[in-house]
Amino acid sequence: MVIIIGAGLSGLITAFRLKQDNIPFKILEAKDKIGGRIFTKMTNNGTPIEMGATWFGRQHQNLIKILNEFGLAIFHQFQGEYYYYDDSDSTYHGKYKLPQQEPSFRISGGSKSLVDKLFEKLDEDDIQFNTQVKEIGKENEELILNTQNDEEYRADQVILAQPPKIWSHQISFAPPLPQELLHIAQKTQTWMEDSIKAAVEFEKPFWRENGNPATIMSNFGPFIECYDHSNQQEDKFALCGFLNAEFKRIDKARREKLVLKQLSDIFGEKAQNAISYHEYVWSEDDYVKWPKENLLQPHQNNGHPIFRESFFNNQLIISSSESATNFPGYMDGAVEAGENAFKLVSEILHAY
Ligand SMILES: Cc1cc2nc3c(=O)[nH]c(=O)nc-3n(C[C@H](O)[C@H](O)[C@H](O)COP(=O)(O)OP(=O)(O)OC[C@H]3O[C@@H](n4cnc5c(N)ncnc54)[C@H](O)[C@@H]3O)c2cc1C
Repeated sequence: MVIIIGAGLSGLITAFRLKQDNIPFKILEAKDKIGGRIFTKMTNNGTPIEMGATWFGRQHQNLIKILNEFGLAIFHQFQGEYYYYDDSDSTYHGKYKLPQQEPSFRISGGSKSLVDKLFEKLDEDDIQFNTQVKEIGKENEELILNTQNDEEYRADQVILAQPPKIWSHQISFAPPLPQELLHIAQKTQTWMEDSIKAAVEFEKPFWRENGNPATIMSNFGPFIECYDHSNQQEDKFALCGFLNAEFKRIDKARREKLVLKQLSDIFGEKAQNAISYHEYVWSEDDYVKWPKENLLQPHQNNGHPIFRESFFNNQLIISSSESATNFPGYMDGAVEAGENAFKLVSEILHAY
């Protein structure tokens, strides 16, 4: 039995491949839902709003391959011709022409379409929700996992499909992991752990009209980056982007008020008729940002070669996007890590 800890993109990819190969497995997921840092919210109006992973490019071939395997459609991120920029002392503010740039893409129906497809391929009892793994021990040839509900699971192989900083701080291992691994994992930044994503839904995309800027860049906010977030069919409209992380210090109602004011200051009265406001403060999510005070550089130790070793005599395998070689931290990295974890498990099992 293989146990995968985490039902994010990396864990679901591994589970899907194990299923195809008829290798018995179970996913233990701390939350009551799949997806992890892929979090597409559907508004009451049916607009898919990305609170987590959103964009990718042509270079992200691992991701593109799995999207093709499932026949999932993708579409261009609408950029328009202009962006609006402002800085804190208003030396520069106004409309500027966007430079030529590589196109970026989104998944039709939202990034959740990919994790939903993977999940559809699993059986109901392949996954146990609301199950946070707290301890991993070894007894004879088996690994023993204990959860926050005092449940015990036994496995021949365990895959850590959560960010290294999370497992290294939240799971206790007996026998202990090598000091070097633990140290590096604790100093591996979890991509986007400090982000606040926010979106405002509108009836009409006024930012696409009359040469208006469709992108906002600001060095103080609340939106520091904001993009068109219309759906592929172009019949649902929103603006979506990142808020200045400092705005986590104020409450949601105040953040919403300041976001709407920023949009009204830029676009005038058309921005005053928002249908809905959505946000997610990722640093408040204990499975993404832990410990709360830990400050690391963006991508620090991401893709470190130590994550490609296996531990506990080949029984403990490290996955998650942050362990990938090519685009660690991104969806592409999560697909690479998930595929690699599967290959490793299957090689080990077939060697016996
Ligand atoms: C705001 C934001 C924006 C992003 N934007 C982009 C983007 O535009 N493009 C892009 O390519 N990438 C983006 N990313 C990154 C992308 O979301 C991740 O690379 C990818 O989703 C990571 O998948 P994962 O499976 O490795 O980890 P995760 O998605 O973190 O999944 C880990 C899972 O493990 C579970 N878990 C954790 N601890 C335990 C435990 N002890 N027991 C059981 N379960 C546990 C968690 O609940 C979670 O479901 C963004 C991320 C964020 C947060």
